[in-house]
Amino acid sequence: MDSSPPLRSDQPVAVVGAGLTGLAAARRLALAGRPVAVFDAAPEPGGVIRSERHPEGWLIESGPNSMQETPPVAALVRELGLEAARQVASPEAKNRYVLRDGAPRPLPLSPPGFFRSALFSRRTKFRVFREIFRRRRPRRQDLPLADFFREHFGQELLDYALDPFVSGIFAGDASRLSARHAFPALWKAEHEHGSLVRAQIKNAKARRARGEPPGPPPIISFADGLATLPRALATSLPAGSLRLGANVARISPSRAGWILDASPAERFSHLVLALPAPALARLEIGSPGAQTSLASLDHLEHPPVCSLFLGYRREDVAHPLDGFGLLFPSIEKRPLLGVLFNSTLFPGRAPQGRVALTVMIGGARHGDLAREPLEKQLAIVRPQLAEVLGVRSEPVFARRTFWPHAIPQYQLNHDEHLQVIAAAEDRHPGLHIGGPVRDGIGLPACIAAGERLARRCLE
Ligand SMILES: Cc1cc2nc3c(=O)[nH]c(=O)nc-3n(C[C@H](O)[C@H](O)[C@H](O)COP(=O)(O)OP(=O)(O)OC[C@H]3O[C@@H](n4cnc5c(N)ncnc54)[C@H](O)[C@@H]3O)c2cc1C
Repeated sequence: MDSSPPLRSDQPVAVVGAGLTGLAAARRLALAGRPVAVFDAAPEPGGVIRSERHPEGWLIESGPNSMQETPPVAALVRELGLEAARQVASPEAKNRYVLRDGAPRPLPLSPPGFFRSALFSRRTKFRVFREIFRRRRPRRQDLPLADFFREHFGQELLDYALDPFVSGIFAGDASRLSARHAFPALWKAEHEHGSLVRAQIKNAKARRARGEPPGPPPIISFADGLATLPRALATSLPAGSLRLGANVARISPSRAGWILDASPAERFSHLVLALPAPALARLEIGSPGAQTSLASLDHLEHPPVCSLFLGYRREDVAHPLDGFGLLFPSIEKRPLLGVLFNSTLFPGRAPQGRVALTVMIGGARHGDLAREPLEKQLAIVRPQLAEVLGVRSEPVFARRTFWPHAIPQYQLNHDEHLQVIAAAEDRHPGLHIGGPVRDGIGLPACIAAGERLARRCLE
């Protein structure tokens, strides 16, 4: 029998997970005057955002490398006083290369550029032009992203634009991702307009009418890397809010509020779980005999990815590295997902006279390669970089980071996972779950998820 005093609405809120999602939620709660305690098993806040300045001058990003500065991200950067540390991607990083027939080719950057580009055939260009006249046909059933995109633009644009983009963002396979869940904006655009090109034109007009700058939001980071953002969020919390090295294995609801095994003496009115799916799947929720299980979230596929941060002498790389990076479409049958040109993208990533590249391997198609040791991976990467970027030497610096569960793949059964999460929340008032497991994978989506979770606690 639970004899504790009943729950009060001014009791603290517990947030489990001090990655970007959890920290964004905690900050919003603290700003609203709610006491908050953030638990994380790791010794540092930030989750997968890991930036490290090496004494030789390299700035190593082992996880995410950059983020889109959407208006809410810009507001957060301002609120946290990070404008001076903020870096916008260099204009030199404007090109985005894609491998075609074994050589890097720049992707067109504008509609006129697309119609002038030698990358795509006249047939594909005509297909894109014709898509403007596609009528609205409401679609009831989800379908693989590859099929959705092929229906609009044909095979060549799928192979050389969407497929490498999906490798770069999800480390995923467009034929297995859900169109509705992986790219909800495209799904919505088709639903509302029929044609994706027409939707794009209308959105651009609406943005102009609102006085917003044209084109996508800027790409940003910070002078000391992306970890500046979670560090600033953590510092902005009231003293004592952040409990690092605190693994949460069991959470139990009681009349007096939520109890966490990491701090059994405290009671929390609300519990925010800002955790990736594998961690949610392992959590014990409820008392023995009346448990809620999120174990099925273990089936939400997260292919492994390995990030190789490699430094070279400038003169040993023939390619001008005048871009964001190079993506490898699966049709080119190469073992790499992509290469980021870090030292072009932002200043201060490599010592004088050196360049920094990040090679991504693994993902949905080559998960086994991500698990190989550095030496074996270098043996795979070396001839690829020599052929496509003219890299003539061994790296002078190398750092390997292995992500066993990198990015959730929203596949055609994703609704089942969303239902399991919603059912757990329905069963336990005061429990709120969010982040990439349900809200989108990019860093701006994590910030939005954190804000949403905080609002739910304050309702
Ligand atoms: C290699 C890689 C590259 C990426 N590149 C980009 C990019 O360039 N741009 C972009 O926008 N996005 C990128 N992403 C996606 C983005 O980084 C993530 O979606 C985002 O950082 C996830 O944040 P989060 O707070 O939701 O989760 P996480 O960062 O995973 O944080 C979860 C936290 O929970 C803690 N935790 C787990 N279990 C427990 C437990 N039982 N008890 C207590 N604490 C626990 C962990 O220690 C961790 O700190 C990338 C992701 C990866 C993996």
